[in-house]
Amino acid sequence: MATESSKLAPIIASAAAQFAKARDIQTVGDLLAFWPRRYRTRDADLGTAEVGKFLVGVAEVKSASTRPMQKRKGTMLNVVITDGRHDIDITFFKAWGHEKALVPKARGIFAGTVGTYNQRLQLTHPGYTMLDDFDAGDRKALIPIYRSVGKLHTWTATESVRRVLDVLDDVPDAVPADVRARRKLVSRTDALRGIHTPDTMAEVETARRRLRYEEAFVLQVTLAQRRRAAAGQSTTPRPARPGGLLEAFDGRLPFTLTAGQQEVGATIAQEMGRDVPMHRLLQGEVGSGKTIVALRAMLAAVDSGGQAALLAPTEVLAGQHHRTITAMLGDLAEGGMLGGSEHGTRVALLTGSQSTAERRRTLLDVVTGDAGIVVGTHALLQENVDFFDLGLVVVDEQHRFGVEQRDALRGKGTVPPHVLVMTATPIPRTVAMTVFGDLETSTLRELPAGRAPITTHVVPEEKPNWMARTWARVAEEVRAGRQVYVVCPRIGDDDVPDDETDLRTEAVADDDGDGEAPAAPARPLKSVYAVHAALAEEPALAGLSVEVLHGRLTSDEKDAVMARFQRGELDVLVSTTVVEVGVDVPNASVMVVMDADRFGVSQLHQLRGRIGRGGFPGLCLLVTGTDAEAAMTRLNAVAATTDGFELARLDLSQRREGDILGAAQHGRRTQLEFLHILEDEDVIEQAREDAFALVADDPELGGHPDLAAAVRARVDAEQAAYLERG
Ligand code: ADP
Ligand code: MG
Repeated sequence: MATESSKLAPIIASAAAQFAKARDIQTVGDLLAFWPRRYRTRDADLGTAEVGKFLVGVAEVKSASTRPMQKRKGTMLNVVITDGRHDIDITFFKAWGHEKALVPKARGIFAGTVGTYNQRLQLTHPGYTMLDDFDAGDRKALIPIYRSVGKLHTWTATESVRRVLDVLDDVPDAVPADVRARRKLVSRTDALRGIHTPDTMAEVETARRRLRYEEAFVLQVTLAQRRRAAAGQSTTPRPARPGGLLEAFDGRLPFTLTAGQQEVGATIAQEMGRDVPMHRLLQGEVGSGKTIVALRAMLAAVDSGGQAALLAPTEVLAGQHHRTITAMLGDLAEGGMLGGSEHGTRVALLTGSQSTAERRRTLLDVVTGDAGIVVGTHALLQENVDFFDLGLVVVDEQHRFGVEQRDALRGKGTVPPHVLVMTATPIPRTVAMTVFGDLETSTLRELPAGRAPITTHVVPEEKPNWMARTWARVAEEVRAGRQVYVVCPRIGDDDVPDDETDLRTEAVADDDGDGEAPAAPARPLKSVYAVHAALAEEPALAGLSVEVLHGRLTSDEKDAVMARFQRGELDVLVSTTVVEVGVDVPNASVMVVMDADRFGVSQLHQLRGRIGRGGFPGLCLLVTGTDAEAAMTRLNAVAATTDGFELARLDLSQRREGDILGAAQHGRRTQLEFLHILEDEDVIEQAREDAFALVADDPELGGHPDLAAAVRARVDAEQAAYLERG
């Protein structure tokens, strides 16, 4: 008898090598996880036979004839198959005995690429199996259709799977029997049989429901364990101190906190005051004011004698955070300096491209504790960065980081620090429950008062009037004292279309399901340098100061440009997506996105979030040279709403399921095959309830060895995926 870890070779002999070579299918478990793509009845049906497409269909032989070849020796076989609606010709240039199987009235499954000959649809040398042979195994009402593997057609997979199922023992089940009974789920063994050898679609659905639940359940058990482990840790409480930095800072705030900011602030203060480390996710709409919330938490950490680290995904954002925090703190950020406030601390910046001397000085401030607040990029995670007493870790724009990076920074505390994770991409509840399921969640729903609305238009690039109007609007805004971003998909000093924040094809649907993204258009993409040059020639913009910003500038250059833009010394900033996240220049009121169709929905929403931050009405112009339907749907959706949750849903619904995890959080791209994170809210909720209850009872899973093994496999897969990405 076989188990899921048995090697395939002894069971299915010749096919095993092909499975191993073409799809890395090595074990019984691998093969059983090679799910059918769909199911067919045994009625003749050739579907919509399209020229050039691979066809798998059931048909009946209508006629068959052999004739001698004209120029060569041998016999040619011509067969017509039909499903009653259309006929397809089949040609074998050598009969080879096919004439014995392909006789009129015989029924078979045929597979091949559809061509044409004499204006008739044709399959040349197709693969086929006659239903009588196919059924010799065990006749089931449905025929599962698998992807072809190397040269093996679907029926070889069917046959192989059947042989494996014949010798398979009951397989271990990660879902305990009592949970199965409560949720009315079949065993894993039954599910595997149901999905591979069903008689009805109801059986398939029962199997899928069970496998879907299992994915959600195993995932929730890992999260429950992670949470439990975190709750068992102890740390230094960091309560806010009366008369400290935070109080001084609050006293000078130029605005009142929104109700949401106050509420989240109170929650954070309470959690940081406990001896169990906080693990909180703060999500909120673009511009909802997350930075202040984080800064106030950091000040509380400093007040209680600890340090706070703020991890940002790009140098531009780290630089900005450093500048704004320093500016907002004023003399409070001049700790230990002449003229500094008595409560003061120092704010340090640590990035990868600092000079050695600068870096050494910063590292010293960090290790001595002179710097109470340390802002940085990935450079913060390096081993030689030591803190005096790290009390709070803030991760900004978490979607750019993995759990592993969060953990690397946490590891720098002498005791586990409190953790606040912020994400600018609002995430639907079910995504929060799966991707961030080990964190408590807070949401900032409202924007600060006094925000003016943003209007968004799609601008067709090929209409000269529209483009002229675009630049005229830019000029008008600048004359009114405002500033403008122009974002391009490429840098353009050579042909590499990337940047610190690479251009993702995140929302490009993969409709044929073959895993290949559609080919990029031949149209050259607008580059920062080309657009910068073009704007210099644009009469409407004469006399304006226009500068470029992109990831390949040195960090000093980036800082200098960004600082000038922030001070209002530049009118127009032509940049790549380095300004996508976090950048905060309230005086900017226009965002022009070139080749907007090349950006995903969430990306456009983020980019648009750079404007409308002061009291000035914002204008976002999405310039596109395409009229492809999918692209226009995305752009129109972005134009139609500024509700980030709605756009996030749309964006995620357009991704392949496995990418949702990856998209929401780069650190965890492990495949989910059956669970739809957006749609299966009930399943996720039930699984979460069951998982948390089980882990509360049996934290180490000692009484659930099968589940423990499944959890281990999942965690290993996550780590492998993380290591692979480097
Ligand atoms: P995000 O949540 O996108 O990170 P930021 O923290 O960058 O948003 O805040 C956006 C802008 O709103 C900043 O200029 C910030 O100073 C300002 N801001 C934050 N809170 C308030 C408030 N309560 N009232 C007015 N302006 C605020
Ligand atoms: Mg932000």
